[in-house]
Order: sequence, then structure tokens, then C-alpha cells
Amino acid sequence: MKQYNIAVIKGDGIGPEIVDEAIKVLNTVGKKRNIQFNYKEYLMGGCAYDKYADPLPQETLDGALKSDAVLFGAIGGYKWDNLPRDKRPESGLLRLRSGLDAFANLRPVKIYDELCEASTLKKEVVEGVDLMVVRELTGGIYFGKPRENLKDKAYNTMVYTKKEIQRIAKVAFEIAQKRRKKVCSVDKANVLEVSQLWRETVIEVSKNYPEVELTHMYVDNASMQLIRDPKQFDVILTGNIFGDILSDEASMISGSIGLLPSASMGGSVGLYEPIHGSAPDIAGLGKANPIATISSAGMMLKYSLGENEGAKLIDEAITKTLADGYRTGDISKYGAKKVCSTSEIGTIIANNI
Ligand code: NAD
Repeated sequence: MKQYNIAVIKGDGIGPEIVDEAIKVLNTVGKKRNIQFNYKEYLMGGCAYDKYADPLPQETLDGALKSDAVLFGAIGGYKWDNLPRDKRPESGLLRLRSGLDAFANLRPVKIYDELCEASTLKKEVVEGVDLMVVRELTGGIYFGKPRENLKDKAYNTMVYTKKEIQRIAKVAFEIAQKRRKKVCSVDKANVLEVSQLWRETVIEVSKNYPEVELTHMYVDNASMQLIRDPKQFDVILTGNIFGDILSDEASMISGSIGLLPSASMGGSVGLYEPIHGSAPDIAGLGKANPIATISSAGMMLKYSLGENEGAKLIDEAITKTLADGYRTGDISKYGAKKVCSTSEIGTIIANNI
């Protein structure tokens, strides 16, 4: 029997509810594929601040670094909103990503046929969308220095080194090679020097991938094109802040932010998490959609553990669950046979493995 050590960070808000469902599904995959998952839980975010006055205790980072992969829910909440920046839950997550050197964030946006009607966009616009946002995750304006809030003035710095751009571009081109061989690099090169370097470097890297078509788009246009005609995109390559915003926008093509998974890779250990936050407005109510987290566990099987068959089982079980008409509240407007709680839909997905 194969064994993997999974560091589990449930976090705050809906985090514990959705991670529990992902574990339920992983355990079923384990039984079916003769795999044992050894889970060890760690604190991060607001709950870690409450216990240790630190949103990322050293023990959590060390545990994550020692594991085969990290499964994470979400962090944050009203309670911690007024803490100093370095004590806020979000700073724990930024430090974890950085500590894992998880510079490449993959955010696939694939539309489940059953949910075409759930999108706020027309069915003919979203049907068949299959794109991947490759977002740089450990650089750019979220990490750049100097940064300060002086009360009468505040500033941040958007900075990228050539090396940082080269390594994320390489990831995007390699992924595109296995897909429809198109990379659209998104920047703001008409205004920002950092985007000019981004564009020049991406063009240089593209020379090593002659079979992949490279196009460029300004971020304002890209945000418009994503809604106008999302099917034109295969791989979208972009920096940290633009990728953060565009992938939330792209999530609505799918019908709900509760559906989209992500993988963050680059260092020795991958981090797998839904793209949404801790949804404090619905925390503890059993209303959260766990599909994004379950799907992130599927990405973990595929990208970190090489368990492609297990990943496929998860994809198929989610598709069958939706096809049978089971929905959580966020996607219940169309085609729902039964509106389920977080744990009910998790159990149905597990039973469909
Ligand atoms: P959010 O993603 O938590 O919620 C936005 C909206 O989407 C809310 O109405 C919420 O109820 C809904 N939603 C989110 N996930 C859902 C799910 N699985 N099922 C059903 N509905 C879902 O974003 P926000 O409200 O801007 O932020 C809330 C907190 O989360 C903040 O503290 C923020 O800093 C934090 N946050 C954390 C992460 C992370 O942990 N990776 C990411 C973004 C925001």
C-alpha cells in the first residue's frame, strides 16, 4: 500500500467544513486505489493568531515543508480585520506560499456541462470553456518593498526580476504544450515598466517553445475579453495581482467561486486550495460548496503525488453528482434535484467514487 503524508491546514470560516469533505473523498479514493493518506493538521490564519499571536507558526511551515503535499481550506474573517498587516491571517498565507517557494499558481477554469445555465453569462458563451490561469504567486506588488502606510500617504511596490518572470513563463509554456498550445500573456506594458520587462522576458522564453502560439493582452482588455469570449483562451500567463483578480472573474464563468480549485507549485512541496476565501458570511451554516476544495485534492493527486487515476475518479464523481442534480445553494438556481448541505454533497461525491 502506498502512503502519503498530507499536511492539512483547515484555516478559518468555512475552511474546516470544506476540507473535511475533501478528506472524506480522498479517503474513499484511498480505499479504492489502495493508498493510505496520513493527515497531520496545522494551524494557520486567524485561528493560529488566536493561539500563538502568529498567523503562520513555525511548526506549520516546518510541517508543510516535511509533507508530500499541503491541503488547505481558507483563512480570514471579520474578527481579525483590524490587526496590523503582519498579524493578519492573509499575511500567514503569503508567508506560507513564499516559504514553500510556491511561485506557480495554476487555476483551471473548466465548465461542467450541467452548470452552463448557472453562469450569469449566456450558455453559448460559456459552454466548452477550458482555460488555465497561470499566476505568479510569490512576487509582484503583494511582496514588493518598500511598502508602507504613513496615514497621509501609502505605497506599495510592484517588482519582478527577470528570473522570476522566466520561471513562471516556462511553467505556462510547458502547460500549454500539453493543452491547445496557446499562451496569452497579460500585463499592463503600456503603462508599467515592470510589465515591459514582463513582456520582453516572456517573448524571450517563448523562443524555446516554437510550437506554442504567444499573444499579449493588456489586463484591462483581458478582463473584458474573459467575459466577452472566454473560449478564445487556453493558458493565461500573468503576474500576482492581475492573476488574483482575473481568476476570481473567471470563476463566475463557471457559475460559482465555490467550484474552482488551484495548485501552487514550484518548490519541493505543492499547496492545494480552493480559489475562494473563508466566506465568513456563510461559515458554520453548512452552506459552503466543497467542490473547489475536493477538486483541489484531485489536483494534489495529479500534480504532487502522481496518482492520475485517483484524480480522474474525483473528477468523474463530481461530474456525476452534478449530472444527477445534486447542488449546494450557490449553484442551485438551475437543474437542482436536491439542494444539499456541505457534508451531504461531500458524501454523495464520495459515494460516487
Ligand atoms: P470569499 O471568497 O470568502 O467570499 C466571496 C463570496 O463568495 C461570499 O459571498 C461567499 O459566501 C461566497 N463563497 C466563497 N466561497 C464559497 C463556497 N465555497 N461556497 C459558496 N459560496 C462561497 O471572499 P471575501 O468575502 O472577499 O473574503 C472573506 C475573507 O476571506 C477575508 O478575510 C479575505 O481576506 C479572506 N480570503 C482568503 C483567501 C484564502 O484563504 N486563500 C482568499 C480570498 C479571501
